[in-house]
Amino acid sequence: MKFVNFLIKPASSLCNMRCRYCFYADEAALREAASAGVMSGGTAEALLRAAFEAVDEGGAVSFAFQGGEPTLAGLDFFRGFAARAEALNRKRARVSYAIQTNGLAIDADWAAFLAERRFLVGLSLDGDKAVHDEFRVDAAGRGTWNRVTRSLALLQRAGAEVNALCVVTRRCARMAQRAYNNLKRLGLRHMQFIACLDPLEAGRGGEAYSLTPELYGEFLCSLFDAWYRDWKSGNYVSVRLFDDYVHLAMGFPAGTCATAGACGGCFVAEGDGTLYPCDFYCLDEWRLGHVGGAPLESLWLDGAGRRFLENSSRRPAECESCRWRRLCNGGCQRDRYVSDGVHNYYCEAFKRLFDYAGGRIAEIAAAERRYLAGR
Ligand code: SF4
Ligand code: SF4
Repeated sequence: MKFVNFLIKPASSLCNMRCRYCFYADEAALREAASAGVMSGGTAEALLRAAFEAVDEGGAVSFAFQGGEPTLAGLDFFRGFAARAEALNRKRARVSYAIQTNGLAIDADWAAFLAERRFLVGLSLDGDKAVHDEFRVDAAGRGTWNRVTRSLALLQRAGAEVNALCVVTRRCARMAQRAYNNLKRLGLRHMQFIACLDPLEAGRGGEAYSLTPELYGEFLCSLFDAWYRDWKSGNYVSVRLFDDYVHLAMGFPAGTCATAGACGGCFVAEGDGTLYPCDFYCLDEWRLGHVGGAPLESLWLDGAGRRFLENSSRRPAECESCRWRRLCNGGCQRDRYVSDGVHNYYCEAFKRLFDYAGGRIAEIAAAERRYLAGR
């Protein structure tokens, strides 16, 4: 395989926070065993061996850690993982690391390690103290904004690369530009905004935090205005979704599975080494196998892996004639639903953004193309 991508849950669904909208707590509760426990050294070793066996000579391997809260596996786990990766990388693959953390456990030692090993650190910050503290609470129900922004300062001081991850809830959707500007004020130049998920077994839109397609469309347009203004004045900030649309408009491949409209680019490894096809599908019915079992490339060929890819290829019929298909590709499988055919829950939001900002996306793509041609 040219690229081997792992999303690893070294502390399974364990977490030191109790975010009210946590999709992984909801998902894990639907499994026979909610927590698969903290990953052992033996399981990490089997995972590393599988990754370096599957990758082609000179290919690329990425390890992204997530949870639950991955730091609960302990700093020594991460030090050992990175050291073993170095020792086992006999094919000289390009290795990259990322971690998505709530930031509570980050201290100076963590910050130094993450900077030294060049982890891309995704730090969850919901854009505004009041909104963040309403949803992102600790086990005692207290808001965490002050503690997380202190962790951010430690990471910045250590020179770690930090990407803010802001969950777009109903409340956050009404203050897109405030969230964006607050994150900028904290010195963040890379941001990712992700639509809040409703619980798996509940209908869409029924929670206090639920995002609706209408609100999401409003949010994306307002955020785009602020982002475009900055780009126009030479003050570029990376917003992952918009960057991706510009790259697609330039003819480059999609940067995420959702904008590619295609699943199957990644293996999720739970704490006990069980493999799943996606973070949103870590459920018993979607088990692919186990690290150290069948070779990675064979896991998509039958059983759950094959079913998952077949479902992914069933795109909404309306996408075929949609003028925005080149940018949107039908979106994420998790947002699709069946009602007289397959549809994407957020289609209305995407169309609203593209109708509103498509001309400006094309303008930026043309300017980037000129810039690349002149280099
Ligand atoms: S905007 Fe809607 S119809 Fe168009 S490609 Fe996206 S999901 Fe499909
Ligand atoms: S379901 Fe969505 S997030 Fe998961 S692999 Fe497919 S496109 Fe990616």
